[in-house]
Amino acid sequence: MSVGFDSVPGNDELKHLLARELSDGTLSHAYIIEGERGVGKRALADAVAKAALCQGVGERPCGECASCRHFEAKSHPDVTVVGRDGKATIGVDVIRDMRADTHIIPSESERKVYIIEDADTMTAAAQNALLLSLEEPPPYVLYLLLCTDSKSQLETIRSRAACLHMRPCTESELGEYLTRTYGSRAKRVRENDALWRELLVGAGGNPGTAAELLDEKALLTYIERKKSTLALVTSMMSGGADAVTTVTSSAMRKLKRDDAAQILDDGERAVRDMIMAKKTDGFDLCFFPTADDARNAGSAFTSRTLCMTAAELRASRDELDANMSVPTALLSLAIRIKNI
Ligand SMILES: [Zn+2]
Repeated sequence: MSVGFDSVPGNDELKHLLARELSDGTLSHAYIIEGERGVGKRALADAVAKAALCQGVGERPCGECASCRHFEAKSHPDVTVVGRDGKATIGVDVIRDMRADTHIIPSESERKVYIIEDADTMTAAAQNALLLSLEEPPPYVLYLLLCTDSKSQLETIRSRAACLHMRPCTESELGEYLTRTYGSRAKRVRENDALWRELLVGAGGNPGTAAELLDEKALLTYIERKKSTLALVTSMMSGGADAVTTVTSSAMRKLKRDDAAQILDDGERAVRDMIMAKKTDGFDLCFFPTADDARNAGSAFTSRTLCMTAAELRASRDELDANMSVPTALLSLAIRIKNI
């Protein structure tokens, strides 16, 4: 699929805004594109860059001019992408080099575009170096800063760049995006209603996660993982000795911190769905494929037990973040839930 605003998942209002700025000639010289990992920040940056560089007439990007063709082939001389390059941060040298390059006029288009990936990781010195360029940029320069949280940028940077906040997709936007972008792979999963529901819920509106779950093996692993989490949380809430036996088993004791955190997050999502299903049908599911599944799973427990369990799962997650050992956190959780 060619790069253009159509290849950006959801976020119609941002796409319309940018298309209007492009046609009115009111594009800013710098944008912060903010959003969670996998939401489509790079796709939006590519679409803006391609359109800003396009030399066609009418709607841009035209997809046909030399500039669009070079952009598609990733060989456009007026596009520079900088990032961490395997390091933890983007240092001041990277930004200084980029700044020096901005003074060389564009070679093919009327603009030069600089995409800074993981802009959150710029060091303070790098941000200050960027600021110098944002204060008085050459007129043809367009900066696109990609980050998960715009607050990671200096206030002085934020005041000189328009912030575009990308939101996760609705289920229908996600379905549309997957079908459009992944064609037969998406169609194959879509033919199986139950699997498709699992994929949409598992993605939580994130196109990157959804694309990963299009891989059948990844989707089945995700479903299995949820099953065992649900069994564990249910056994904890049932109050028997089983849950304590399970969490003290050697397999659980060897669990990595990230995997334990995942179980707690999934468990909390499951319990939240069960709580909501007792009250209403119209809510966004975050664990179960259907509201009936959530209602059935929660039917044996009172709302009070479910609410207190959700709070305990959250507390345990905080304990893990505060570096409590995995076996201690899980055992303490099982005992606390048993005593509810
Ligand atoms: Zn073009």
